[in-house]
Amino acid sequence: MENRTYTADADPGESVTVAGWVHELRDLGGIAFLILRDTTGKIQIKFEKDEMDDDLVDTGLNVARESVISVTGEVDEEPRAPTGVEITPDSVEVVAEADTELPLDPSGKVDADLSTRLDNRTLDLRKEEVQAIFTIRAEIQHAAREQFRDLDCTEINTPKIVATGTEGGTELFPITYFGEEAFMNQSPQLFKQLIAGSNVERVFEIGPIFRAEEHNTPRHLNEATSIDFEGAFCDQHEAMDVAEAVVTAVYEAVDANCQDELDALGLAEEFEVPTGEFPRLSYEEAIERINATGELDEQLLWGDDLPTEGEVALGEDVGEHYFITDWPSEIKPFYIMDQDGDDQLSTGFDLMHPQMELVSGGQREHRYDHLIEGFEQQGLDPEAFDYYTKMFKYGMPPHAGFGLGGERLVMTLLGLDNIREGVLFPRDRQRLSP
Ligand code: ATP
Ligand code: MG
Repeated sequence: MENRTYTADADPGESVTVAGWVHELRDLGGIAFLILRDTTGKIQIKFEKDEMDDDLVDTGLNVARESVISVTGEVDEEPRAPTGVEITPDSVEVVAEADTELPLDPSGKVDADLSTRLDNRTLDLRKEEVQAIFTIRAEIQHAAREQFRDLDCTEINTPKIVATGTEGGTELFPITYFGEEAFMNQSPQLFKQLIAGSNVERVFEIGPIFRAEEHNTPRHLNEATSIDFEGAFCDQHEAMDVAEAVVTAVYEAVDANCQDELDALGLAEEFEVPTGEFPRLSYEEAIERINATGELDEQLLWGDDLPTEGEVALGEDVGEHYFITDWPSEIKPFYIMDQDGDDQLSTGFDLMHPQMELVSGGQREHRYDHLIEGFEQQGLDPEAFDYYTKMFKYGMPPHAGFGLGGERLVMTLLGLDNIREGVLFPRDRQRLSP
């Protein structure tokens, strides 16, 4: 819009045109105030009824809340106004009228449940604290990208429509692709490995993954954003270093660049950047420590996957981000390499936030024969993965990497109760639109 001034830039002594939404109307009798909101903040518009043109007053004071208006007038200092300035209007134009009945109240005075909020995201996002979540989410992705680039990684984009799933199983969404069965990809795992095996060597991707998880939980989505890394000539320890660097860089960037947003969310005081290295616990230590908390009804045995309550108990015990390493091979996928000289122990690792898993990674099996064996052990047909396995015959270096859940990162960094709060239009068991 030509000649538009953001409310945050309206300085005393200027004549400006501001445009945005009607946030609030306060009619005090002889004088009335309209609070106009735009992406940079809010500004007070003053109507002195006896001293102004009747039509102007009429237009300004009869417009429904959340309508879009544009106002031209003089900016003056006014210490009693919310931002210390106010505009005395010369003209008010109603650009787009809003219904007087709104499905939710963007001023936040009336609470709405999450489902109503998600059905009306446009209105929901007019709330400062909701907008803050997505500003921080954008900062997180930006900071992750920068960190990967500093670590000499090239950003890649891999297909989301695929012929075979990464791990097979029931978590695949089938689709019809020109009459043939295809799937939405569960993870870029196989593709990023194929590129790490080229001269590109070190890659990252931030993109969607699709999982047909049956259960509705506060930390699972059916469409999520995965932050993936894969590096040639890396082992699991170096992949852990990268995961740690990315998570730390993300916290540092939010701390440095998003204080206003943290403040809007009431987190400015408590927000802490992780310092130092994340402890690295072996799987064996992890189950011993979980068992020692006495929080589980049944003691965990070597080979068990960690139940959610176990992760929570251990997280409370450790009290900061930590890695779990040296997992039993049996509960890690076929593409994870076993440790040298011990086919019971894998090079797989998880990075945990005290409340939940953030990352899974490991060194990959790069030896063709071992890889084919792994497929067979997992009950997968290696033939179906020929496009992948055959490249392991043409010079595949040792490599390692990880997948970091983008929304899990947003959720844990901001302490959100539900992962859906950090997704504009979440996909879950009940939700396919908007
Ligand atoms: P979980 O056990 O927590 O369900 P997972 O081990 O099945 O996770 P991975 O396949 O290891 O998940 O995926 C790597 C990362 O992607 C996870 O650590 C998590 O942060 C994220 N992630 C996986 N599935 C989901 C999902 N359905 N919704 C949101 N994030 C997910
Ligand atoms: Mg995992």
